[in-house]
This record gives sequence, structure tokens and C-alpha cells, in this order.
Amino acid sequence: MIQTTDLVALSQEFGNPLYVYDAEKIEFQYKRLTNAFAKVEKLRINYAMKALSNISVLKLLKNLGSGLDTVSLQEVQLGLHAGFTPDKIIFTPNGVSFEEIEAVAKLGVQINIDNLSVLEHFGTKYPTVPVCIRINPHVMAGGNENISVGHIDSKFGISIYQIPHILRIVENTKMHINGIHMHTGSDILDIEVFLYAAEILFDAAKQFQQLDFLDFGSGFKVPYKKGDIETDIEELGKKLTKRFLAFEKEYGRELTLAFEPGKFLVSEAGYFLATVNVIKQTTSTVFAGIDSGFNHLIRPMFYGSQHSIENISNPKGKERFYTVVGYICETDTFASNRRIAEIHEGDTLCFRNAGAYCFSMASNYNSRFKPAEVLWKNGKGHLIRQRETFEDLLQNQIMVEV
Ligand SMILES: *Cc1c(COP(=O)(O)O)cnc(C)c1O
Repeated sequence: MIQTTDLVALSQEFGNPLYVYDAEKIEFQYKRLTNAFAKVEKLRINYAMKALSNISVLKLLKNLGSGLDTVSLQEVQLGLHAGFTPDKIIFTPNGVSFEEIEAVAKLGVQINIDNLSVLEHFGTKYPTVPVCIRINPHVMAGGNENISVGHIDSKFGISIYQIPHILRIVENTKMHINGIHMHTGSDILDIEVFLYAAEILFDAAKQFQQLDFLDFGSGFKVPYKKGDIETDIEELGKKLTKRFLAFEKEYGRELTLAFEPGKFLVSEAGYFLATVNVIKQTTSTVFAGIDSGFNHLIRPMFYGSQHSIENISNPKGKERFYTVVGYICETDTFASNRRIAEIHEGDTLCFRNAGAYCFSMASNYNSRFKPAEVLWKNGKGHLIRQRETFEDLLQNQIMVEV
């Protein structure tokens, strides 16, 4: 796996701010998951590409055997561009237009519907196209309220209590339901809660006779620092496999077990490198101001995620307390009162867990360029996205004098 010295060298080679992804770690996580469910004959991992959508990362996952979980037509198109065949892609949108769902279905991609009105409309218009339904089991799987999506007031999925209505639509339209799905949101702290939600899905599955797959979504929690709780994938694998195999017998038909992890596959593989522009002592703290902001990494400000930060230019330095902030003209605090090896202006700070929902949420706020991205593989850094240039900022803008 990548070492601190490699990161220092990459920051010198490609410049900061920079995203680096360790291919070996992505492979490691992919194999961890498939090993945990090795006893399931038909296992399908659909990488939730909204976490990190660089086409070289997609290609890497494709070569590992992964499928793709997508939430927009554009993600589907990127996936096809990266070489995924339509049968390896599932489309799990929320609140998109009917036209978008139609366009994706026409590409031959499995669609997943999470709304009764859309289900009825789609089933009426395309009774022969198989559809998966997203069920909301109303289970609180823990995590931040922005990323916990299975609870009672969530906008996601069709309520488990509305199964009779789903069945009525299926009967009326003669449509074919080939899968059912749940995604209880990010950060499952307790696998018992996950297994409980799975029971609800098994129960729902019995109502449909022609299923090909059961999709348990994702929400696996990853550690952000040493000692953090993480989803025990191996334990979940053991328990859910047993339950799944028993259910398959009961159901009387072979089923595919599907997952769609984002964070689990790529979070820990990512590093974000930024240069310290200024150190500012105030009456209450020492600020380290870096050449970045929430335009490049918004998670700490958006939902309070705690990325660990190291000073890789002075890893053995005496530790002191810092508040790490960005250069955006708005408060953009990455971390408050963090213990970091002594920082000098010009040092490179390294943010961990920067693989998922980091670059993919980056913007051009303050008219800054989005960072470059590098994929580390076989001891070498491969540039997979150039740093933006001034031309990129002007592209699509039209200067008129009216
Ligand atoms: C975002 C999302 C995922 C991935 O969630 P992670 O917490 O990153 O694993 C999976 N399924 C659906 C439907 C999603 O929207």
C-alpha cells in the first residue's frame, strides 16, 4: 500500500492540491467484501460510483469484476464509456424525471424504481421491461441525518407498508418485478440492525414470484482513525450468507445477492494533499491555512466528517494544536483543535479517507480550479485527471453586452 514518502513524492511531481487514490487498497476492499460472501453462488457488487466517478477508477473496478450502481443518466453514460456493459449497471435514482428513467431503460440498464406513481406509469408504458423496486424498511441504521435514508420520514424508497399497493400495480400492468432493493443509508454501526432490515426485505421478497436478485444496498461504515468502529464485514458476511442461503431454499429459486458500496470500496484509498499557505496565531488558536477549501473537500463543513490530517512534510515533528482552514471567503474549517506535527508555511498536509464523496463533490467556487487526480498503482502515480485551467473556467460561458 502507499507510504507517506510516496505521497510526498507525488505532491512534488504533480503539485498540490492533489487527490491520490491507492489502487491496491481499492482491490483489497473489493476482495474483502467478495471473500466475506464467498459462499454465495451469485454475488454481485455494484460500485456506487457517485462516491468517486473518475473513469480510470471505474475501469479498475470493472477489471476486478464489479458492476456499477448509478443515480443519473450521466453516471450511466460514464460507466458505459469506462467499458461496463449495460447488464452490469443498475440505475437507482431518486426524484428524477420519467424521461430520464426511460432513457436509461432504453440503454438496457436495470432500473430501480422508488416511487409508486413512477412504477405505475412505467409498468403501463413498458410492461415487458423488468424492474427492481426500492423498498424503505423504515429502519434507522445510524449515521448522520443527511446520510441516513431508511427512516420513516425519508424521501427514499417505497414504504414497506405500501406493498399491497405495489402488488396492485403489478397485477394491473402485468409488469415484471425482477429485484427488490433497500439502502438504509451510510454508516451502519450495528450489523444486527442491518440483519433486522434484511429480514424485512426477505419478508417482502416472498410477495414477488419472479425475483432474480435481492439488493441490500450499502452503508458500510469505514474507520476514520485508529480505534474507530467499522462495519464488521466478515461477521456480516457469515450471518447474512447463512440467512440468504436459507431464504433461497424457502423461496425455491436461485437468487443473486447484490450490494452497492461506495465508501467501503474507495474511502480509505484516497488521500487529499494541500499546501499550507499561512500560519496565523490569534488570541485563541493557531490557524493553518491551506491552498484549498470546501470547493475541493466539503465533507467536514457539509456533514461534520472528521478526516484525519497529517503533516507529511514534517511527520516526526513535535505535535501542536491547530485549526485547519481553507482559503474560501466564507468560514471553511476542516478541523478544529487538531494535534498535528509542527507545521511550517509551505508544508504539505495530508487528509485521509479522501476517496469517497470528496472529489466528486468538488466545485469551482471562488473560481478556483478543481485539483488533479492521481491513481497509485504498481509503485507509480498515474495522472487520471489534469488540474483545471483558466480555459475550463471560461468554457460554456458566453460574454454578452446587452
Ligand atoms: C450513495 C448510495 C450508495 C453508497 O453508499 P455508501 O455509504 O457510499 O456505501 C448505495 N446505494 C445507493 C442507492 C446510494 O444512493
